[in-house]
Amino acid sequence: QGGRRNGRAFAHGGRLPVTDTIRIEGVRGHGAHGVLAEEKLRAQPFVVDVEMEVEPAAADSIECTVSYADVAADALAVVEGESADLVETLADRIAERVLARGALRAAVTVHKPEAPVGVPFSDVSVTVRRNGPLVDGGTIRRAVLALGSNLGDGRAHLDAAVEALGALDLHLTAVSDYLSTDPVLAPGQEPQPRYTNAVATVTTAMSPLALLVELQRIEVRGGRVRERRWGPRTIDLDIVDVEGVASVNPRLTLPHPRAGERLFVLEPWAQIEPEATLDGVPIASLIEKLRR
Ligand code: ATP
Ligand code: MG
Ligand code: MG
Repeated sequence: QGGRRNGRAFAHGGRLPVTDTIRIEGVRGHGAHGVLAEEKLRAQPFVVDVEMEVEPAAADSIECTVSYADVAADALAVVEGESADLVETLADRIAERVLARGALRAAVTVHKPEAPVGVPFSDVSVTVRRNGPLVDGGTIRRAVLALGSNLGDGRAHLDAAVEALGALDLHLTAVSDYLSTDPVLAPGQEPQPRYTNAVATVTTAMSPLALLVELQRIEVRGGRVRERRWGPRTIDLDIVDVEGVASVNPRLTLPHPRAGERLFVLEPWAQIEPEATLDGVPIASLIEKLRR
């Protein structure tokens, strides 16, 4: 069962990070689903179990997790909603909603205990398992990566990172020039050496989380240590954007939440993809605004 064990390899490389499992069982309601005309006229009971893998709750805060009350309400709304022929369709609709609430993966079981089976039976059920966009691999997608270094020989660190990227299961489409940029510091932060920055575009069938795991391995091999947030670093590899994926998960937020305000990302990106957009906004217009 895909969703049940932590540390299990997931599609196209990488391992699922440690997750929490939230389970809600026996959500019941009546709905008019089934292949027979009679089933579409008279509602019958359906019972739903949902199991979802979520990011471990970082703080004792509802903001950081997926609310089982919301998920139960979703399941009930689908059961009581638009008629479907198949129980699979109901389960799929519920799974879509659970994933939209930020679960990494979901397994949804729909029981139809009074299904017209024709012989005595106790229950019939269908389980669907769905990966959320962060763990979904197997589709070739475009991704934009940002590279930065400001400790030691920045150009050499970027060269090594580009070479390491080339060894991953991806196609390196383009690498921008290396730009020398002023460090962007948080208010009150100590001065830092200048940065060398670049952007690379790739295509890959790795899931976005699997790609992040690989980038972090390259950072570690490049001598990256993280003493404090936004401290100087030998190499930083961020995912700026993955085609078709939006995520508010703190482990991997997509598009990168600060990319739109960083000339050191937008300028090298525009060099290799002048027509690109970020969250639907042309990067050329973001650049123009930031330069003003
Ligand atoms: P910034 O994200 O502001 O550029 P940083 O790159 O210095 O800061 P890191 O120390 O490299 O931050 O990463 C901190 C965490 O950010 C990582 O552990 C990673 O899980 C998370 N993260 C969230 N979204 C992304 C993303 N789009 N790309 C890379 N890391 C991300
Ligand atoms: Mg960064
Ligand atoms: Mg980073």
